[in-house]
Amino acid sequence: MAKTCAFKAEIRQMLDLVIHSLYSKKEIFLRELISNASDAIDRAKYLALTDKTIAPEAPAWGIRLVTDDKAHTLTIEDNGLGMSAEEMEEALGTIAKSGSKAFAEALKAGKETNIPELIGKFGVGFYAAFMVADGVTVESLRRGEGQVAAKWMSAGDGEYTMDAGSRTEPGTSITLHLREGMEQFTEGWTLKDLVRRYSDFIAYPITLKELGREVKEEEKAKVEEEEKQPLNTMVALWKRAKSEVKPEEYEGFYRQTLHGTGEPLKVLHIAAEGTLEYRALIFIPKQVGMEMMMPGNKHGLSLYVRNVFIGDEIEELLPNWLRFLKGVVDSSDLPLNVSREMLQDDAIIRKIRSDLTNRVLKALAEMVKEKPEDFECFSGALGDFLKEGYHSDWENKEKILELLRFRNLKEGKWTGLKAYKEAMGKEQQAIYMLTADTLEAGQQNPCLEQLKAKGYDVLFLTSPVDQFIAGDLYEYDKTKIVFADKGDLDLGGDAAAQKDELEAAEKELKPLTETIAKQLEKSVKEVRLSARLTDSPCCLVQDPAAMNPAMRRMLEAMGQSVPEEKRILELNPKHPIVKALAAESDEARKADTVELLYGQACLADGTLPPNPANFNRLLNALLAR
Ligand code: ADP
Ligand code: MG
Repeated sequence: MAKTCAFKAEIRQMLDLVIHSLYSKKEIFLRELISNASDAIDRAKYLALTDKTIAPEAPAWGIRLVTDDKAHTLTIEDNGLGMSAEEMEEALGTIAKSGSKAFAEALKAGKETNIPELIGKFGVGFYAAFMVADGVTVESLRRGEGQVAAKWMSAGDGEYTMDAGSRTEPGTSITLHLREGMEQFTEGWTLKDLVRRYSDFIAYPITLKELGREVKEEEKAKVEEEEKQPLNTMVALWKRAKSEVKPEEYEGFYRQTLHGTGEPLKVLHIAAEGTLEYRALIFIPKQVGMEMMMPGNKHGLSLYVRNVFIGDEIEELLPNWLRFLKGVVDSSDLPLNVSREMLQDDAIIRKIRSDLTNRVLKALAEMVKEKPEDFECFSGALGDFLKEGYHSDWENKEKILELLRFRNLKEGKWTGLKAYKEAMGKEQQAIYMLTADTLEAGQQNPCLEQLKAKGYDVLFLTSPVDQFIAGDLYEYDKTKIVFADKGDLDLGGDAAAQKDELEAAEKELKPLTETIAKQLEKSVKEVRLSARLTDSPCCLVQDPAAMNPAMRRMLEAMGQSVPEEKRILELNPKHPIVKALAAESDEARKADTVELLYGQACLADGTLPPNPANFNRLLNALLAR
């Protein structure tokens, strides 16, 4: 008995957009339906490992396209797992899957205009059928004992109908009643072309039967033979020799199967042999969405064991910091019935993970040498992941350190420690770094004045992840790493003369430093003179062990309470304002100037003056004068 139901609202909305998108590549519906058929066979094969009733005698797994140019239909058949009536309703009538939900939300947000890319990304492939069909019939018989055939029909207009099905063989057939103008999808050569273009690596034979084709008696045998010939080469991409795979095949796989966006930056086609045997295709993307930085985000590689799909988003195959990678691993050393739970502490998986990590690091090191512009792109978009790796992956710390890039003072360019060191003058004793909110804020920080005067370069740590690694950076290739706003900045040179000069100034300015220290008692822990500055009257610095201000702001923004840590105010004894301040006799005016100077020092490293309203009042009064 047939029953008609309304689609869930989100589906209706999504269907509307999919149908009416003016996208010219409507042909992608085919790769989506074929990939669903292939998924269904994968699942049947997998379940058959533990459940004898799924495939009592192993069938010849396959997918068949059947065209009828008189009826204007195209049918995609498979002998995969099939669906029960409930499963059909669940899979085709509601948005139960997170992917479809995310798709609907992305559409609602209205930012994404590239519908086909979205379809691929979120895997709402089935509905793509409505781009070319104004009626879709799904007939299915679920594998397993006691199943009955079911039928699902819809014109894509907001409703679907469920009815008893007529399939007698387990599997699914999806019949598309093609829209006017879509007749090309009943043409054999069009379909052959599309299969080769989009579905060549599907691991099961895709065959074609043209019902409308007039065949002479004497040609019948030949045509029957033809109908058995698969249109696809079938060998999984990662099983083929590297030299035989075209770049567009990699790209197609990356986008359609792995739901990657854009073009990949680099592909690693791995055929490991020897003690550890496995094959893998690893894609380094050009960029990833923000969600990748979130701790709970799903990621990981797909895993196959001897051609049987085990699962996707297998996190165990990569260290967490490499979660931006996409790809597949195929191992013949694992048992076929491996479960997700078993993967967690499997020795082979651990070995594959460490081998993959090494290969990725090696590929990045090669990219530095051979394709520096690619590596620059990588550093800009994905460098934070490497920094996370530096912080968390003890085994590979040294290799990762070589790959870290920071923007520099001189050109604002992504610079590595090696390049920095090579560009250093003989007299420069240390590598200088500074944490800052942005490159521009860093470049303006008065703490760098002496360094600038000496012509030294400085590397900036500007991303939130940088704040975590700042504490781990103390040496590179036997050269000390010094944070320019921490402790005493010993710049070498004629140290003795500098020290004498500073000591003399200290004596002379002692009353001033004491007055300021008293006035700013609540805010700063010490007031002292320094040689760090050339142009500015003062700046704020920290104890070498203190938490840097950018880290503090970040933790506070995350809602953590951070213990108050006072900083040190350094004065430039040679600066005219400091000199004038020492000579100032009007106590009130002196106090105001001190407050203004302190406020400026705060602003220079990205924090607000303690009392912004008063700071403004004093500044206005000064301007008025
Ligand atoms: P996805 O493939 O990403 O899950 P689709 O929209 O392509 O999303 O398919 C929705 C669901 O419909 C599938 O997850 C599957 O459960 C079911 N399905 C679609 N086609 C088939 C098929 N040929 N055989 C069995 N199940 C299918
Ligand atoms: Mg699909």
